[in-house]
Amino acid sequence: MNRRELLSLLRSTDPAVVSELTEEAGRVRDQSVGKAVYLRGLVEFSSYCRRGCTYCGINCANSRITRYRMTDAEILGCAEAIQSYAIGTVVLQSGEDSFFTGPKMATIISAIKERTGIAITLSLGERPAADLKLWREAGADRYLLRFETSDQKLFSKIHPPATIPLPGRIEQLQLLRELGYEVGSGIMTGFPGQTCASATDDLLLFQSLDLDMIGIGPYVPHPGTPMADEIGDITSDDQLPNTLATAYKIVALTRILCPSINMPCTTALRTIDPAGYREGLKAGCNVIMPNVTPLDYSERYDIYPGKKRVAQFEQALDLVEKDVTDAGCFVASGAGASRHYRERSGR
Ligand code: SAM
Repeated sequence: MNRRELLSLLRSTDPAVVSELTEEAGRVRDQSVGKAVYLRGLVEFSSYCRRGCTYCGINCANSRITRYRMTDAEILGCAEAIQSYAIGTVVLQSGEDSFFTGPKMATIISAIKERTGIAITLSLGERPAADLKLWREAGADRYLLRFETSDQKLFSKIHPPATIPLPGRIEQLQLLRELGYEVGSGIMTGFPGQTCASATDDLLLFQSLDLDMIGIGPYVPHPGTPMADEIGDITSDDQLPNTLATAYKIVALTRILCPSINMPCTTALRTIDPAGYREGLKAGCNVIMPNVTPLDYSERYDIYPGKKRVAQFEQALDLVEKDVTDAGCFVASGAGASRHYRERSGR
């Protein structure tokens, strides 16, 4: 598909386009990576953040939330729980919290690796090159860092720069690749100011960055964030709609353009659509990230409202299993590195 075709698909309001694309994406997923769905246990270990992202509820200017940090022992306990449920990956996610310095994080990573041997994915935002290197050496396997939008002017508007020098997101993604990480990125869809034209460029950037994992999540307005207050001011004529149809269309197009990657059914998708896991899998996803964070912390990881959790993890896993089966797939065990990564790295 060329740029013009992609753009016209994104601008189309025909519901048949969504169903045709999701069916095609499901077929591509089956042929390229099969029907195996890998689980990752998500641990949201700190809600402190030094950044002022205008879309995100845990941005540093939001004084209405109560911040938390999990202790090293609590994080390790979550990783052990994940292993005990036969899940092969822990995803450690947080705000950009300078309390977790390079060496402190490296100690946590090596302790998890030593005690559990499971794959470790980091989602810690923009960090100095030296930290990324240290964490890779300590045993981290993967890193997720969404570029959010390929429109650099829009990105700097929604993502004010840090007060310390850090690599830009695209630069960091390239660095992660050189360090041998399995590299993930992604975007939010439908936030104010994001156009169909820029979302088309996002899809093309996914391809040119040669990513191993891509996460697509609909923008969920958080009351009190600058973006939620500004909606009317920054939308344009070519605004990408903030609809489920658009999110699924972009998920499906991503799978069609990048057949051998891993793609999670994102938490935001599941927040907006109770059938988000099942429908995400039908649209080409092959990863689900059940949340393992203790409930009282998770409630305070307030990046957007409406995140859904069931109290018992066993029950959550049963529901995941049902969604996976309903989508005609099966839950696979193991770390589940992406085919794309395995082929490009020879691992
Ligand atoms: N600090 C790290 C970072 O920025 O990559 C990881 C945590 S950050 C909260 C994880 C992801 O949450 C972001 O990449 C962003 O896409 C998503 N997110 C934040 N606020 C959101 C919102 N209001 N709606 C949808 N997704 C949102």
